[in-house]
Amino acid sequence: MNPKDLDRFRKLLAEERKRVLEELDWVEKNYIGKSRKESGGEVSSYSVHPADGASDSMEKEKAYMIGASSGEVLEDIDEALANIDQGSYGKCGECGEDIPVARLEAVPYAKMCIKCKTKLENSEGATR
Ligand SMILES: [Zn+2]
Repeated sequence: MNPKDLDRFRKLLAEERKRVLEELDWVEKNYIGKSRKESGGEVSSYSVHPADGASDSMEKEKAYMIGASSGEVLEDIDEALANIDQGSYGKCGECGEDIPVARLEAVPYAKMCIKCKTKLENSEGATR
């Protein structure tokens, strides 16, 4: 991938990272933060605890789901950013082929090409 494209995706990933952090922050403030004191504003030490038998366990469950999936996306974004630095960004983790730019534009933190992703989803029943 040429440096110009890499730069573009680095920016896209940075924006996406910010959005996910805001989402996690929102979950923290609206649900989890109510029952747990948070020391700093740093989300890197973020951890989600499953509902612990409180009356609003449904809401907590929901917040946990959002938090968990956002946390996963955040990991993928960090991995993609590290890959950009290492020069391995945009390669399918399964077959090693280049992931099409169009796919990366839609999902800049994609780790697999469509073919491998579809294969994995079919075998695992994954939703993402
Ligand atoms: Zn592949």
